[in-house]
Amino acid sequence: MASQTLTVLLVEDNPLYARLIQRLLGRSEHPAFDVVAVGTLAKAVERLTLGAVDVVLLDLMLPDSSALDTFFRIRAHAAETPIIVQTALDDVTLASRAVEGGAQDYLLKDRINGASLLRSIHYAVERARARGAEWHSAMFHLAQQQFLKAAYIAGLDDNIRQRLLFPERSQIAALPFKRDQGNQVETVFAYRVQHVLTMGPTKGGIRYHPDVDLGEVAALAMWMTWKCALTNLPYGGAKGGVRVDPTTLSPAELERLTRRYTSEFIGIIGPDKDVPAPDMGTDAQVMAWIMDTYSQHVGYSVPSVVTGKPIVLGGSLGRNEATGRGLVYLIEHACRSLGFALNGATAVVQGFGNVGSHAATFLAESGAKVIAVSDVATALYNPQGLPIDKLRDYVREHRLLADCPYGEAISNRELLELECDVLAPCALQNQITAENAGKLKCRILAEGANGPTTLEADEILKERGVVLLPDILANAGGVVVSYFEWVQGLQNLMWPLEEINERMRNILTDAMTRTQRRAEADKLDMRTAAMIEALNRVGSANLLRGLFP
Ligand code: NAD
Repeated sequence: MASQTLTVLLVEDNPLYARLIQRLLGRSEHPAFDVVAVGTLAKAVERLTLGAVDVVLLDLMLPDSSALDTFFRIRAHAAETPIIVQTALDDVTLASRAVEGGAQDYLLKDRINGASLLRSIHYAVERARARGAEWHSAMFHLAQQQFLKAAYIAGLDDNIRQRLLFPERSQIAALPFKRDQGNQVETVFAYRVQHVLTMGPTKGGIRYHPDVDLGEVAALAMWMTWKCALTNLPYGGAKGGVRVDPTTLSPAELERLTRRYTSEFIGIIGPDKDVPAPDMGTDAQVMAWIMDTYSQHVGYSVPSVVTGKPIVLGGSLGRNEATGRGLVYLIEHACRSLGFALNGATAVVQGFGNVGSHAATFLAESGAKVIAVSDVATALYNPQGLPIDKLRDYVREHRLLADCPYGEAISNRELLELECDVLAPCALQNQITAENAGKLKCRILAEGANGPTTLEADEILKERGVVLLPDILANAGGVVVSYFEWVQGLQNLMWPLEEINERMRNILTDAMTRTQRRAEADKLDMRTAAMIEALNRVGSANLLRGLFP
């Protein structure tokens, strides 16, 4: 960017202000700016259709358009061009809507100076470029927009905001492994992303799924940072992934793939560096292979290099079911806050893997009537309540819920719209969107999965009074008990299950209480409140450590 000329489309009807911006940008040589100034929306659209605009500086109040309308109409004509809003309207709701809608920044006119304007343009252009390259991903976009919204409301230090918007370290490998047949070698893309290295070692699962890409792994790493910070764990966030469908691999292929993954990333993982755990498509067996490969490499057993291991290898009691159990602890808490008991309430669970099946089990044990569950193949509905133990036996035998006789088969879409007290999406991202958020009929939405709800849906749910337990809080039970496993491993301790569950409940309840208090005091939705709790902690750690050199 240093030696080039950037074309800035300045959309501003106040000629004095337009001249001021032109003067500020005119002083810059690296980069130099070619400023095209227009005073109306119509003129701006006309110029955008000619192309070759690097960034739009947009006033929201124009003679032919006002407020967010202006923003969205410009965006419709420049979907890939970064837009920086510069306005006299000091309005948090407007700012967060603009950021949610894709604005790169929201600058208040009376606070703009040459340096802040240049910085804002620099980052907007760089981000747009990076996103167009490796980071292009709806999930990463969602994670960044959630962060930007919370950072704006919290007034997070500008240097830290820019630092946290992308992960600190990302490694990609084109990873070969032998198939069972003949001499065939498969090469797949594999990732490990460490978002924040400030808080201690990094921590986060490894996902095997055909849709995995750098952006998805980066989003999950970012959410891990907030999850660990919200629960006061001494970790930064990380995540790993392999773009592969594990259900098409034999156990031997899965093992070779996992061992190769470990050796590719061996330089950046370790008990004091970065500690992987299971996520979608991986399990305790995969963690055992990682632990063994790492241990072979260093020459002695290192159980603490992973969590979520089998118990005999130093795994913790309660880790396997921790995410589902923690989710249900928080659901119970939310029910109490709303003045009803979970015992007797109705619940719907999307996804019947690790998180979903355990959540359904603990919901049923708490006396809730689980009226529907689903997996990738089908959804099952029974208004009298499903026999969760029998469903788990069925899935152990048949792998999927398809043709299971204990309920009526419905679609996953219908499942989300069932009338219930608690809806727990525990499958995958991007399930509750602007399209279906208005049709949900639950009182509590408890996000067992990561990123199941879009920002537009958040707004709709807030307006409709649905109580949200956001993913970074609701599914944090897994990383909390992973932390316990790591601590026990480093100190050769063995805590009983009751102690583990009690400690987890205390940590989650404390995080939820702080989130609720902040949400009430500052009139925020629960996601933004939880994010602010988390990013204040990360922000102050960054400031205290300072910047090397
Ligand atoms: P898993 O692989 O064990 O289970 C995923 C489940 O989702 C399966 O039942 C699968 O059939 C179902 N599914 C897949 N595609 C679906 C679709 N299109 N519609 C409905 N169901 C579908 O994975 P998991 O470990 O239970 O993880 C689920 C979610 O929870 C992920 O978002 C993961 O990141 C998150 N999470 C997991 C943990 C953990 O400890 N495992 C911790 C925190 C968050």
